[in-house]
Amino acid sequence: MNLKGKKAIVTGGSRGIGKAIVIELASQGCDVLFTYFSSVEAAQNVESESKKFGTKIRALQSDASKLSEAEKTVNYALESFGGLDILVNNAGISKDNLLLRMSENDFDDVITANLKSVFNFTKSSVKPMVGQRYGRIVNISSVVAITGNPGQANYVASKAGIIGFTKAIAKELASRDITVNAIAPGFVITDMTRKLNEKQKEAIINQIPLKKIGQPEDIARVVSFLVSENANYITGQVIHVDGGMVM
Ligand code: NAP
Repeated sequence: MNLKGKKAIVTGGSRGIGKAIVIELASQGCDVLFTYFSSVEAAQNVESESKKFGTKIRALQSDASKLSEAEKTVNYALESFGGLDILVNNAGISKDNLLLRMSENDFDDVITANLKSVFNFTKSSVKPMVGQRYGRIVNISSVVAITGNPGQANYVASKAGIIGFTKAIAKELASRDITVNAIAPGFVITDMTRKLNEKQKEAIINQIPLKKIGQPEDIARVVSFLVSENANYITGQVIHVDGGMVM
């Protein structure tokens, strides 16, 4: 995938899937501005690791939940890179609990960090994309948006919301050659899933036809496909990258 000269924003690029996306896009020739919430050291490491590809890499502390911070981030990317072609809405959190024990705050926090953040960054990014009549947007949803999952009503609602948002915006923006797609990862080894114990991991592997947990790079490679010329005729789709869990 050759993305030479393209300019990208990736939210939540300090760890896990976001980090793999930053490295993959940089390795294909992209200038990348990535955000993080609090992991300063991890973000600095991603910045130095990605610089070896010779493109411009910027890390920025920016709370994806806040529209004003998304606007500042997009302006910083436009100033630093002179344009914006690609947006990857990856930042996300989970605060799991059964509904009867789930607090209103935990519901609101997850919806705001996972779904409102996608609105914030997409709204802030589309103006320059519409102006140049080109843009590639990829939103990271989840397998549980399709299957449901007990103990994750807030998370599942946010990830299902991302799919609806993706389809609505794909239709709004298609005439300007802006594609908008979602990826629904299955279980991927990151800090978000590392807290599972061995028994829980075994139970998960049993539900996966390919019989293995995914790696962050499995998701990153599909992002780089969706933002490349090879995917020019794909929009409004949900790509399942889950070892066959959803068929
Ligand atoms: P992770 O390892 O926990 O990393 C989350 C990233 O998001 C970090 O870079 C974090 O920054 C950032 N972040 C969180 N809240 C933020 C905020 N308000 N503003 C800006 N950045 C924020 O998670 P992951 O497993 O890589 O997940 C990445 C995405 O994939 C998420 O949307 C997740 O829901 C989705 N997903 C993951 C899996 C999986 O199995 N891992 C499966 C399906 C979908 P800090 O480092 O500063 O905290």
